[in-house]
Amino acid sequence: MANLVEIRVPDLGGYKGVDVLEVLVKPGSMVKVDDALATLSSDKASMDLPSTAAGTVREVRIQAGGKVNEGDVVVVVESAESVLQTTASPSSPASSPHPPEPPLPLGEGEQALPTADLQCDVLVLGAGPGGYTAAYRAADLDQKVVLVERFPILGGVCLNVGCIPSKALLHVAKVIDEAAALSEHGVAFGPPKIDLEPLRAWKDGVVSRLTGGLAQMAKQRKVQVVTGTGTFEGPHLLRATRADGSSTTIAFRSAIIAVGSRIAQIPGIPYDDARVLDSTSALELRDVPEQLLVVGGGIIGLEMATFYRALGSAVTVVELLDGLMPGADRDLVRVLERRIGRQYEAIYTSTKVLRIESTQDGLKAYFEGKKAPESALFDRVLVAVGRRPNGDRIGAEMAGVSVDSRGFIAVDGAMRTNVRHIFAIGDVIGQPMLAHKAMHEAKVAAEVAAGHQSSFDARVIPSVAYTDPEIAWAGLTETEAKTRGVAFEKGAFPWSASGRALALGQAEGWTKLLFDPSTKRILGAGIVGPQAGELIAEAALAIEMGAEAGDLALTIHPHPTLSETVGLAAEAFEGSITDLYLPRRK
Ligand code: FAD
Repeated sequence: MANLVEIRVPDLGGYKGVDVLEVLVKPGSMVKVDDALATLSSDKASMDLPSTAAGTVREVRIQAGGKVNEGDVVVVVESAESVLQTTASPSSPASSPHPPEPPLPLGEGEQALPTADLQCDVLVLGAGPGGYTAAYRAADLDQKVVLVERFPILGGVCLNVGCIPSKALLHVAKVIDEAAALSEHGVAFGPPKIDLEPLRAWKDGVVSRLTGGLAQMAKQRKVQVVTGTGTFEGPHLLRATRADGSSTTIAFRSAIIAVGSRIAQIPGIPYDDARVLDSTSALELRDVPEQLLVVGGGIIGLEMATFYRALGSAVTVVELLDGLMPGADRDLVRVLERRIGRQYEAIYTSTKVLRIESTQDGLKAYFEGKKAPESALFDRVLVAVGRRPNGDRIGAEMAGVSVDSRGFIAVDGAMRTNVRHIFAIGDVIGQPMLAHKAMHEAKVAAEVAAGHQSSFDARVIPSVAYTDPEIAWAGLTETEAKTRGVAFEKGAFPWSASGRALALGQAEGWTKLLFDPSTKRILGAGIVGPQAGELIAEAALAIEMGAEAGDLALTIHPHPTLSETVGLAAEAFEGSITDLYLPRRK
């Protein structure tokens, strides 16, 4: 029989008439225990109101903009059975599925090396963060290393057309926004005058300082850099071919494939129209369009949207899925959505771009989605719909290396492919496609190739969106925990109670930590707010070290800093927090 459960506002610590910021469910929504039903906000803090029952929402008795008091009925849930606790078994942080393997015997295959222009112990194909790290580590372990890169400049996507130039431009965006925000506090600078040429030169200067440093370090380590596009011609032979047709053959005892990924495309877009941008051309900053459509609401698309909006573009974002930035918890993303919802022209989720037509007046985009118009005209369209691995472009079959239908290469914990002396690392082996993952995998591959014992056993790989506000997470997310049925308890600290966040004029942030209810060990962390990308490092270290809530809560964090919010979230979980009033746990 249907069991109707009234879910009421809990003890609000004496607060009355608390604002309902957002209602997160509607009649018909399915909820689980602890799912957020609504976000409430007082002058001290904002909090998500959790469901205490699982089932279908039959009635919603509050509305956004309204006020609530302790004991008010929020929703009525029809539940087959009342649920008080999630029932999944306690979890412990993941350990490596791959035990360390014995080292590759030195000298293996030496006699059989084919004749070639160059001979080496370790050949590294691709000089992105994965490739150059592998090459330098192998050289430091006394290997004779050849590094093959198709472009004359080292650094790959990350340094040249990814992480670094985008962060340089995001810094500019942040300064523009912060200067503008000060006008509310009596300090007005006036609108910024943007001169693209020096701005571009500065961004390019940041990149070339880093890539120049890489070239110098290759020399210092006696890593031989060969420019050319590499393709395997056998299990121990690679040919690097240059644009003029000349080539160099390299015989190797071991190889590390680090060829990264390329920009993915979707059909229906006139890519030969120069007004259609991808992440690489968008970073060239040719101009600041008046009307910019960003196709793709993932991290890269939203970072680009952030700086073009700050430079003056009216930005529209369209995303096929029902929310921005898939992978991040919704409560974190909501803070970003609220902010950019006020800044952008429009954000259309659950919307497909059917096609884009080049017209004299601009690029006409046709949409399919509930809230989107049928079509709209833009000056530029930036397509940021993901990246594809390059494993399908290196003649891997000639070396016997298996590549899947999407271009990914499978590896074991020692970064070995199916061919024992050939390793693969970075974007080409799979998600998450992040530079810090590639660099760590690189060290493992280089060490194993040099005959050392090593394996990739990181518990977490943090993710960061350098949007405004930043969103960062590491380890278990709430969404993942709920999907996988992993038991967890949460400690959260709203930045509206952080003096430092208030002083920065950014009090909308949150720090939340997920703990194993039985061991109290930290399982995951999510942070939204300025510097979230810096703050997540402490949580990542805590997870790697198997820290418990008490370790974080008892670590003295300097005051007043945003880093305090990590300790305070742990205190909130422990029940020892005094910077907030939280109702006592029953
Ligand atoms: P890559 O950096 O792709 O390097 C591969 C190299 O191999 C390239 O230099 C390529 O020219 C070369 N190559 C390919 N095929 C051949 C061949 N056949 N012969 C010779 N050379 C070849 N990650 C983060 O962690 N943080 C960020 O903030 C971040 N921001 C990003 C922003 C943007 C706009 C983009 C596009 C990406 C961003 N990334 C970020 C992702 C990051 O750039 C990648 O995860 C990282 O570069 C992967 O490193 P990699 O060494 O595997 O490959």
